[in-house]
Amino acid sequence: MPFRVGSGHDTHRLVEGRPLILGGVIIPHTKGLAGHSDADAVLHAVTDALLGAAALGDIGDAYPDTDPKWKNADSRLFLTEALAKLNQLGWRPVNLDVTVFAEQPKLGHVKAAIRDSLAHLLNVPPDCVNVKAKTGEKVGHIGRGEAIGCHAVVLIEKS
Ligand code: MG
Repeated sequence: MPFRVGSGHDTHRLVEGRPLILGGVIIPHTKGLAGHSDADAVLHAVTDALLGAAALGDIGDAYPDTDPKWKNADSRLFLTEALAKLNQLGWRPVNLDVTVFAEQPKLGHVKAAIRDSLAHLLNVPPDCVNVKAKTGEKVGHIGRGEAIGCHAVVLIEKS
């Protein structure tokens, strides 16, 4: 089959004293995401979607959070290395659709910057990437502002 689809999901807790980085974009906010790496939930979900599409396991297999090597790691590295693995197998991304779940901060004004960052990292035109922002409607861990989540779907093709 020349096409494959993959999905990825990630959630990280919001805490004080950390920068907020989503899709490789630093977003001014009073809190950031907790995690072993830079905790970029968007890049983790997209990386998992890519790995899933190519049946290459998950981000935890490749970059275990028990490995000190990945402490505070720039998650752009995870995405670009996963993409390189796909490229070696002849796969390339066709389009990416991302939904970010955050009560605060409001992300409407940074959606375009996140899209451009993801397009650059995936080496596809910006019109092949879509970023949507949802709140948690004030319920659950997202709605109470305790965490930010992301869901990603990617289509890849054999070139
Ligand atoms: Mg993660």
